Order: sequence, then structure tokens, then C-alpha cells
Amino acid sequence: MTNYKLLRTIIGQLPHGSDLLESLAEIVQRENIKLGRISGIGATTHAVVAYYDQNMKKYNPLEFSGGMESLSLNGNVSIRDEKPFVHVHILLGDAEGKVFGGHLLSGTKLFACEVTIDEFEGEKLERGFDEKTGLWLWKI
Ligand code: ZN
Repeated sequence: MTNYKLLRTIIGQLPHGSDLLESLAEIVQRENIKLGRISGIGATTHAVVAYYDQNMKKYNPLEFSGGMESLSLNGNVSIRDEKPFVHVHILLGDAEGKVFGGHLLSGTKLFACEVTIDEFEGEKLERGFDEKTGLWLWKI
């Protein structure tokens, strides 16, 4: 494990109708965040997530049309290919309170979203391709 120090916390609201992943990537780029933690709550009008098939080593997309609660948005920012990279997972709740979720993909449109981003300072945290899992994992 590596120790990091909290540098600052950004709190904001993402625009209605915006793309969740793209909005987060924009903030990270604008604020020049290279290492961070992302959390949030809100609601989506359309959601696109993925389930990672460990045998096929492939992401399978799942779509949720219509309004869903965004119960928990949890992720991080680190470096991939020399650039800040946003990795987020999301839990979505339907009208009956049933919960679905997955790895957030582009195409998730917001009804509303309150987001908190913590920026950390410390050693560079970089992703590299991992043969065993087929994922871009941290090189720690
Ligand atoms: Zn993921």
C-alpha cells in the first residue's frame, strides 16, 4: 500500500441531460486531477454499464432505459497512457427498489447528479495491461 495525502475536495452538480462519464472526465481534465476518488448520488434517464466476463475477458454492456436512481457512484482517477483516466462503478435502483449496477460506460444520461471528487497528492498511480485478468490494473 502507498500513502497519499488529501489535497482538496471538489463538490458540484452535473448538468441535467449531460453524459455522466464524459462530464466527470471533463472536470478531471479541467481541474488537472491525476489522482482522486469520485463519489456521487443522483438519477439517470438512461444508463449504460458493463459486466466484465472473467472467462471471456470482455465487457458486456447492459442498458437501463427510463428513470433510475443513481444510488451510489464510486470510482477513482489515475493515469492510463500518460493521461488521467476515470474509472467508475454505479449502483442503479428501479421503481421497486431493485438494484442493478456495473462498470460505468459512456451513454449514461443524467437527470441529476451530486458529485464529490477528492484529489490526492503523492506517488504517480499508473495503469498497465494485466495479462492474467485482461484488465488495465494499477502497477503497484
Ligand atoms: Zn470497472
